[in-house]
Amino acid sequence: MSYEGEMLKKMAMPSKQEVEKELLKTLFRHNGTVKEFSTGEEIVNEIADIFSLSEEQRIVPLERVYKKENRIVKTPLWHRLLYRAADSLSNGNLIIKPSVTQKLTNKKEWMLTENGFDKALELLNIPIEEKDNLLIKSYEVEKEVKKITTKAAPVDYNPIGTKKKITVTREANLRSRGFRQAVIENYDYKCCVCGLKIKSPNFQFWEVEAAHIVSHTKNGKDDIWNGLALCHLHHWAFDVGWFSLTDDYKIIISSVSKKVPIDFGKMGNFSFFENGLVENKNILLPQNSSLFPHKKSIEWHRNNTFYK
Ligand SMILES: [Zn+2]
Repeated sequence: MSYEGEMLKKMAMPSKQEVEKELLKTLFRHNGTVKEFSTGEEIVNEIADIFSLSEEQRIVPLERVYKKENRIVKTPLWHRLLYRAADSLSNGNLIIKPSVTQKLTNKKEWMLTENGFDKALELLNIPIEEKDNLLIKSYEVEKEVKKITTKAAPVDYNPIGTKKKITVTREANLRSRGFRQAVIENYDYKCCVCGLKIKSPNFQFWEVEAAHIVSHTKNGKDDIWNGLALCHLHHWAFDVGWFSLTDDYKIIISSVSKKVPIDFGKMGNFSFFENGLVENKNILLPQNSSLFPHKKSIEWHRNNTFYK
């Protein structure tokens, strides 16, 4: 048995396979990314806590001789084990190394791949169907987000795509999840109309939705210029035409709202047309103006969906 193997046994450390599983679950809990271990002491401790490692198990050093330089390097055995587990997951294409992630996001982080995401769902007994509703980063979706958010906004723009095939390809699924993530992140997880920002009690699901301005059923494109982050209620109201936007992103409300019965859209003191939607109010927008909804998308919505 190697010196390292002996040390692992002597210190009764968890097996590499067990660490791999917990690392995948930890990545899932942290929305798909964790800091590189040398700068991410919290993560190193968080996983050590899962195994209830003693203080000694956390710090016991592994001495390695660097023959070239003829010196001894001491690394905590626990760090070494974590790195080995992460390397093995990376070789199995379940996670991406910080050096590779950095090229995409400028952050030195371990990141789940689509396969790693699936494996984490399996380990956590979460049905695979939930995948589209979770805002967990995967390397493949993150690449789509980058594509969606780094193009310069076109002066002229057609928000309507060509008719889609009925079969959902893997590529289309990644694109649509990329759209969702790009929109929700750039609107800071808030409804752009009312500002609501809320998650499920298990912190896994955001309430806010990425809405298409030209709807998906009308072949609206999965571009950020055709997207808005809206809460469920405002998403519905936008899709049925209760409100739309001016070219300078102010809310306009259907004139039908002036002709409704007194108790219509009321809930106690709350009035949907007075508190929920405020005429002429600016919506919340992304920080980067090249990610704002395109005027052509809004114009289409005013002419085709909005109930004047
Ligand atoms: Zn809202």
